[in-house]
Amino acid sequence: MTSDFEYIDGELYVEKVPVKKICEDFGTPVYIYSHNFIRSSFFEYKRAFREIDPLICYSVKANSNLSVLKIFCSMDCGFDIVSSGELQRVIKVGGNPSKVVFSGVGKTEEEIETALRSRILFFNVESEAELRKINEVALRLEQKAPVAIRVNPDINPDTHPYISTGFEKSKFGIGISKAMDVYKNASLMKGIEVKGIDAHIGSQIFDLSSFSESISKLIYLAENLSRHGIQVSYIDIGGGLGISYESEEKPPAKSEYAKVFEEYLRDTSYRLVLEPGRSMVGNAGIMATRVLYIKDGTSKKFVIVDAAMNDLIRPAFYDSFHRIEPVRGIDLESSDVVDIVGPICESGDFLARDRNFPAVSSGELLAVFSAGAYGFVMSSNYNTRPRAAEVLVSGDRYCEIRARETVEEMLKAERIAEFL
Ligand SMILES: *Cc1c(COP(=O)(O)O)cnc(C)c1O
Repeated sequence: MTSDFEYIDGELYVEKVPVKKICEDFGTPVYIYSHNFIRSSFFEYKRAFREIDPLICYSVKANSNLSVLKIFCSMDCGFDIVSSGELQRVIKVGGNPSKVVFSGVGKTEEEIETALRSRILFFNVESEAELRKINEVALRLEQKAPVAIRVNPDINPDTHPYISTGFEKSKFGIGISKAMDVYKNASLMKGIEVKGIDAHIGSQIFDLSSFSESISKLIYLAENLSRHGIQVSYIDIGGGLGISYESEEKPPAKSEYAKVFEEYLRDTSYRLVLEPGRSMVGNAGIMATRVLYIKDGTSKKFVIVDAAMNDLIRPAFYDSFHRIEPVRGIDLESSDVVDIVGPICESGDFLARDRNFPAVSSGELLAVFSAGAYGFVMSSNYNTRPRAAEVLVSGDRYCEIRARETVEEMLKAERIAEFL
């Protein structure tokens, strides 16, 4: 963890603000993000890739809070979106649609129309049926829709099956062996302008050879297309670079990651597009939660906290590990093996299992690390639990960038049917 999340005199700070202060002001559970960390991640990417100057399109779904998007927007970053809702967010913070790529297997006709009217950079097309639909909408609007075809390079990186997306049987993309035919069809469609090739092989990937295999297959396809008179300008490699959730985990440095692509692209005219999500914001955030009770079960000890799987679903969903520490600092003298669990009525509602953990008592604050990506955005109202607050820290300043949800807000859209 970088110095943006540091223990000073036995107390956890985010930049220059004590986590405890934020919890007092806004309650728990609360997500806390570091402005500086997010900026640094972006500039690390820029520096690592300076030789080939790719278009970096931050993957909005990783953390779509407007303030987070505003940070990227003010650094002139592009965006990778997967819905028109995300497009609206980008436009709301002043993002430039000409730096937006639109991914996802199930874009609706309305979403396609909205994106065309906004003049996005290109659609990442995931099927022939979608390509025909985009052509149809573009013709109706008297436009040419810019597209890249998402190909499936048939690579199975060593990651959780739920976040592996580039193997042959996945729902994503078009099999690379079929891609040539789809491109030929696309190039004949009056409402389509072929712009690029796209792939996204998965998430939380440590193995650079998977990326290397992917980019080499995409370039091979691009050259093949060129021989058939179809020129692409962009090669979009997706996202997926892993981050460290445990201190022993050593993901590749961004500079190493960049080298993979530089080697292939240095002497070509293709512009690389990157869609990083987790590696931009994953370690830029923590979730703070308060201990409610300690329960000494017959065979197990439980630390029951006020955050649950509805607030952070990754442990329950992917069996992911998140480092958790008391906010008052780490002393492992009186440690015990515990499960850290939430109040939800599910056995899958845990944040940590069989964890060696210092003795804590009720009322204490804990920090769940690496919660900046796929944290708040995946939260739900299960058990009619209001979603957590979000706070952004910048130096010694901090701001609540999303208020804690209220029960009234949760119930607002519901009606009691009149025939009851
Ligand atoms: C989720 C996703 C990303 C971002 O992936 P990370 O692993 O967070 O970098 C990029 N592109 C597409 C198409 C995605 O679905």
